[in-house]
Amino acid sequence: MKTAAAYLASLRERDLVLYVDGERVAEPVDHPKVRPSVNAVAATYAMAHDPATRALAVAHSDLIDAPVNRFCHLFRDEADLTAKLHFQRALGALTGTCFQRCVGLDGLNALFLATWESGPDAHGRFVAWLKGVQTRDEMLCGAMTDPKGDRSKRPPEVPESYLRVVERRPDGVVLRGAKVHQTGAANAHQILVMPGQALREGEEDFAVAAALPVDAPGVTMVLGRQPSDERKGGPDAGNLRYGGQECVVLFEDVFVPSERVFLDGDLDAAATLVDAFAGYHRASYGGCKPGNLDVLIGAADLLTREHGIRKASHVRDKLVEMTHLTETIHGLGLAASGKGTRHDAGVWKVDPILANVCKHHVTKLPYEVVRLAEDLAGGMVATMPSIADLDHPELGPALETVVGGRDRAQLLRLVEYMSYGSGAVPFRIECMHGAGSPQAQRIVLERTTDWEAKVARARALAGLDRRPDVVARDLEEAAE
Ligand SMILES: Cc1cc2nc3c(=O)[nH]c(=O)nc-3n(C[C@H](O)[C@H](O)[C@H](O)COP(=O)(O)OP(=O)(O)OC[C@H]3O[C@@H](n4cnc5c(N)ncnc54)[C@H](O)[C@@H]3O)c2cc1C
Repeated sequence: MKTAAAYLASLRERDLVLYVDGERVAEPVDHPKVRPSVNAVAATYAMAHDPATRALAVAHSDLIDAPVNRFCHLFRDEADLTAKLHFQRALGALTGTCFQRCVGLDGLNALFLATWESGPDAHGRFVAWLKGVQTRDEMLCGAMTDPKGDRSKRPPEVPESYLRVVERRPDGVVLRGAKVHQTGAANAHQILVMPGQALREGEEDFAVAAALPVDAPGVTMVLGRQPSDERKGGPDAGNLRYGGQECVVLFEDVFVPSERVFLDGDLDAAATLVDAFAGYHRASYGGCKPGNLDVLIGAADLLTREHGIRKASHVRDKLVEMTHLTETIHGLGLAASGKGTRHDAGVWKVDPILANVCKHHVTKLPYEVVRLAEDLAGGMVATMPSIADLDHPELGPALETVVGGRDRAQLLRLVEYMSYGSGAVPFRIECMHGAGSPQAQRIVLERTTDWEAKVARARALAGLDRRPDVVARDLEEAAE
C-alpha cells in the first residue's frame, strides 16, 4: 500500500494534460488550486499507515491475498459496507472536504457484479485489471456523468453530449466525448469510465465501461473554478490544508485496448452497473458528509464559546439540532449497509431504499446545518476583513478588539469556506447533485418500493381480505 509520500511521487510520474484558468499546468501537484485536493486524497493513503486508523483504512483482498487500501477493496461482506462508512466519516472529519476516492471505490464494486452478469470474458478482464489497481494502490476517477445537453433527448439524438465508442478495432475501442464534474480527476492514476444512465436498444455505443490512464493520449482535463479559489494556500483559505476538486474531462479519440474494455454494448449489464453504483454511492454520502458536518458543528460550537453564548438554551438546542440532522444521515447510510444483501458475484449490495433515503436527506439536511452554523457564527462570517489585515503591525491591534483574535477569525473563515467558499462545492453542492439530483432518488424510491405488499397489509387489517392472518391461524390450530 502506498504512503502519502509515495502517492504524491506517483502523481509526479504522470504526463497529465491539465488546464487551470486558461493555462496548461506543468505539475498539478504543485499548483496552489490543486494541491489542497491532492492533500485530501493523500489522507486516504496516510490513514492506512497510521496505527490509530489502520484498522479503518485497510482490508484483506482475497484477489491478491494481501492487505489493500479500503478504497481498492471489494465489499465481500456486510462488514465491508459498514467499514466503508466509518472510514469515510473519519476522513470527512479529518479533511473537512471531499477526499475524492469514493466514486472509484463504488464504481469498481458495481463493475465487479455488472461484469459478472455480462459473462466470464468481461469479468475476467475486469478482475485482472482490478488486481493491478489493488497491487499498485491506485486512485481512480469514477467517470459517469455526461454533459447531456438537452435532457429531453436520448443520447443518439445528441451524441456529442455523451461519451461514446466511435470506432471498434480488433484490439480495442476509440472513445470520444466528455465527462463532467469529475471529482479528483487530476489527482487520479486511472479514469474508470462508466455509462451515466440506463440505455435502450440502439444506444449500445454509449454503454461502455473501460479504464484508461489519466494521461492517455487524447485526454484533456480542465479544472472547475470554485468560489474564493484564489485564497487557496493563503491564510484566508478557511481550510488551511485540504480541499476538493472537480474537472471537465475531454476525450478526443482516445484509444482503449481490449483488455481494459469491460463492457461494450451490453445494455443489461450497463443497467445493472448504473443501478448498483447509485446504491453504493448514495449510501456513501452517509459516511463522508456527516464527517464534514462534524467539522462545521465543531467550528460553530467553538465560535459560540468565543462569543460567550454557548450556555444559552437556544444555542445548545441549535447545536443539538445540527447533531441530530448529522446523525440522521449517518444512521441511514449505516442502515443501508447493514441491510445489505449478497449478490451471486460475491459482493454485497446495499439496501436500495435506505441508500436512496439516505442520499435524499443529504440533499436537504446539511443545508439546514449550514443555516444554523451561519446563525450561530454571526454576521462577521461574511464581512470580516482579510487575515492579512489582522496581521498588519499597525491595523492588527485595533482590529483585534473589533474582530476578535486570530483564532476566532480562522474559525469564521472555516465556516465561510464550508458554507459558501471553495469548500461549498465539494460539500454543499455535492450534497445536492453528487450521486444524482434529488429527483433521481425519488424515482428509485417509487420504482423499488413494494407498493403491493403495503396494499396487502392494509387490505388484511381492514377486513377486505378473507384469509386468516398468522395469529388467527395459530389460534385456529390451537382450538383444533
Ligand atoms: C461537486 C460534484 C461532484 C461530482 N462528482 C462526480 C464524479 O466524481 N463523477 C461523476 O461521474 N459525476 C460527478 N458528479 C455529477 C453528479 O452525479 C451530477 O451532477 C448529477 O447526476 C446531476 O447531473 P447534472 O449535473 O447534469 O444535472 P441535471 O441532470 O441537469 O439536473 C438538474 C435538474 O434537472 C432535472 N432533470 C434532469 N434531467 C431531466 C429530465 N430528463 N426531465 C426532467 N428533469 C430533469 C434534475 O432532476 C435536476 O432537478 C458530481 C457533481 C457535483 C456537483
